[in-house]
Amino acid sequence: RFGQDVCPQAAEDPLFGLMAAYKKDTSDKKVDLGIGAYRDNNAKPWVLPVVKKADQQIRDDPNLNHEYLPIAGMPEFTSAAQKLILGPESPAIKESRAASFQTVSGTGAVHLGALFLAKFSKQQPTVYLSSPTWANHNQIFNNVGINIKTYPYFDKKTKMLDFDGMLSTIKSAPNGSVILLHPCAHNPTGVDPTKDQWHQIAAVMKERDLFPFLDCAYQGFATGSLSQDNYAIRHFIEQGFELCVCQSFAKNFGLYGQRAGAFHWVVAPGSDSADAVKRIASQLAILQRSEISNPPAYGARIASKVLNDPQLFAEWEEDLRTMSGRIIEMRKALKSELDKLETPGTWDHITSQIGMFSFTGLNESQVAQLQDKHHVYMTKNGRISMAGLNTNNVAYFAKAVDDVVR
Ligand code: PLP
Repeated sequence: RFGQDVCPQAAEDPLFGLMAAYKKDTSDKKVDLGIGAYRDNNAKPWVLPVVKKADQQIRDDPNLNHEYLPIAGMPEFTSAAQKLILGPESPAIKESRAASFQTVSGTGAVHLGALFLAKFSKQQPTVYLSSPTWANHNQIFNNVGINIKTYPYFDKKTKMLDFDGMLSTIKSAPNGSVILLHPCAHNPTGVDPTKDQWHQIAAVMKERDLFPFLDCAYQGFATGSLSQDNYAIRHFIEQGFELCVCQSFAKNFGLYGQRAGAFHWVVAPGSDSADAVKRIASQLAILQRSEISNPPAYGARIASKVLNDPQLFAEWEEDLRTMSGRIIEMRKALKSELDKLETPGTWDHITSQIGMFSFTGLNESQVAQLQDKHHVYMTKNGRISMAGLNTNNVAYFAKAVDDVVR
């Protein structure tokens, strides 16, 4: 029986375990740099002003109800989400080459894509994940039975992109392999390829006939500019790839628990693209139906209201700049505190990395000391969520780092 001997005890999710340990800590000095969720300068969750406004408008609507959405989600949400992530001028939209589905946030989008690939690939594919990557990628692809390999990404010595290693592994991947890429604000390293490097990656993938699986959880959150953060996606589409894109509204709308996201499949240009997109959408609908029936409505309603209203959209862009701007300021502040303390090591990567996370280069034992001695909570791999820093704790954190690296 499963309960007696077949089902072994699984390890606790490290991130959610870290959250529990932080909650238990009674010190007033404690600092939470674990989970990737935005915090304001008082270390509090931040409801975006534009989200509050849109939420109120929805609640005031006398026609609001809680009926099921269609299987593919709210059409006005998916079409606006598509425009946002592919770019409003995308040839994929103009030529009706994209099938878009509302999903259970970014995680649900990655899962739907993985499930589709597992079911419809001619041969069992291999997915190449960056080393390191968001830990859940491993579990999601593993769960649907797709082989996983990795490509080098982060160079521990330079704390920068190992571009040569990345490109040479991608070059040697068998034709038809799936390459998972983070189009902006790579999690966990905060290190992104430059535009020129994206061009080279796309060229090699074209040559080798590799499938781009683009997981974008931070559009607008990285640089504050929506069009800068989807550059890689636009470039791959312009190159005529068939590809898929996973989109999350957790971070850029602060809608973490509402689970609003989308999955987009773009077929390659060609005379049969209209038929291809129809066939793919029909199969995605079956997968979606069997997994979740139809997606959750409330978060998507909020995002949709904002995305479809030019005035609210402009206010949202302002909120995005507030979040990304505060994080950039915290990068500068941390670097400057470490410089002041003359902390051993180089810390330029703190300001050159981008987005929610920084890969500090701290090792597992230093991370453990930070937690035990200084009440600072971060993942074992040395990743910190920059949003957990603020003007009240950045100097304390820098001193704690200084203590454990000496
Ligand atoms: N993909 C990456 C790379 C992420 O970092 C995250 C969140 O941390 C996600 C996907 C999915 O997040 P969510 O399911 O909350 O949208």
